[in-house]
Amino acid sequence: MSSQARSQDILTRARKVIPGGVSSPVRAFSAVGGNPPVLQRAAGSRTFDVDGNEYLDFVQSWGPLILGHAHPAVYQAICEAAAKGTTFGAPCEAEQLLAERVTSMYPGLEQVRFVSSGTEATMSAIRLARGATERDYFVKFSGCYHGHADHLLVSAGSGLVTFGKPASAGVPAAIAEKTLVLPLDDIPALEALFQERGHEIAAVIVEPLPANNGLLQQTPEFLAAVRRVTSQHGTKLIYDEVINGFRLAAGGAAELYGIEPDLATFGKIIGGGLPVGAFGGKREDMELLAPLGPVYQAGTLSGNPLAMAAGLATLDALEAGGGWTRLEELGAGLEERVAPQLEARGWSLVRQGSIFWMSLQEGPAPRSAEAIDAGGADRYRPIFTHLIQHGVSLAPSAYEVGFLSLAHTEDDLDLFSERLAAALASA
Ligand SMILES: *Cc1c(COP(=O)(O)O)cnc(C)c1O
Repeated sequence: MSSQARSQDILTRARKVIPGGVSSPVRAFSAVGGNPPVLQRAAGSRTFDVDGNEYLDFVQSWGPLILGHAHPAVYQAICEAAAKGTTFGAPCEAEQLLAERVTSMYPGLEQVRFVSSGTEATMSAIRLARGATERDYFVKFSGCYHGHADHLLVSAGSGLVTFGKPASAGVPAAIAEKTLVLPLDDIPALEALFQERGHEIAAVIVEPLPANNGLLQQTPEFLAAVRRVTSQHGTKLIYDEVINGFRLAAGGAAELYGIEPDLATFGKIIGGGLPVGAFGGKREDMELLAPLGPVYQAGTLSGNPLAMAAGLATLDALEAGGGWTRLEELGAGLEERVAPQLEARGWSLVRQGSIFWMSLQEGPAPRSAEAIDAGGADRYRPIFTHLIQHGVSLAPSAYEVGFLSLAHTEDDLDLFSERLAAALASA
């Protein structure tokens, strides 16, 4: 790799005016050491930094770029929209078109409302569930990430107590304790909690394929049990599809697993690389939102015409090109090349479609946060560092997943396989 002098210089200056020099903490490389390259441009499967280094990129902006970086159709749609105005603060046709598209793609979805991030989507969906049920408590699972709203930055209390405790400074205990935290993959714990307190629980929020703490594939039995107990107790089941949605299938995890939630949240892909989120469900629940109902929710830039255009262009290209079949082929190609290398060391590759995670621990791939071996971070660091120094960009954390896009090629997979072999040999 050539120099990182300009990146270094920019970061040094940025750290004076931006905390840690970054706009989102994981970008600072704290978990892997070293300095992040400062990116200048990107195209397809590649990113380029300000020092002229090129990277084969499996971060893909953490999930939105299912077509790859700077896809021409998305770029063109954004330019055409921008020429007509960047925001109106009034209804625009693209909102109606994207809402029709999303409700036709996602199982059981009748209405959606657009917001500007995944965090806003989950925050609003939980408020709606609380408003609809007139209950205060909700359940999240440890190991799932749903954005950074106060009541979602909560971790499990000690021992058998499921009341959440703040996972960040600045989150009041009184707010955290309304969040009940359960382990994934544990049907008895779920049933026991609902038997005791089901009548007080407004919602269960879950990533059906948890992809924010490794890739914790759940059993169909567990997902069915979550659907069963929530239905039995009048609790809203919220699928957080911010990563899964439009990636695992046209209808996200709900289609893949054949289970319909009451509410679903979206982000990332739905904005085609611009800041968008959405949440949706049945008309009966969604019409509880203002202006029709008592649950307040709003946004100055919500339904932004550029973002709507980028989202529509992304979904068009995915559907037109047989996107999900190709993503599965690429995923299978990656698995074929990478899994044997990891298995030779007793580790494993966890993959679903175009999402993959290298599980650097022995034994079966974990299904819950509790089953993750913290030693993976130490094993990942040298592999990550070798790869980025040799032009392959994986997520700067052992517990973040990798993403394939339609811009990746078989040659890219060969290159990754070759560089990974060298990284494993030198680590
Ligand atoms: C990224 C993510 C969020 C938060 O989305 P932001 O746009 O970063 O606020 C919520 N839920 C899941 C599952 C995510 O992966």
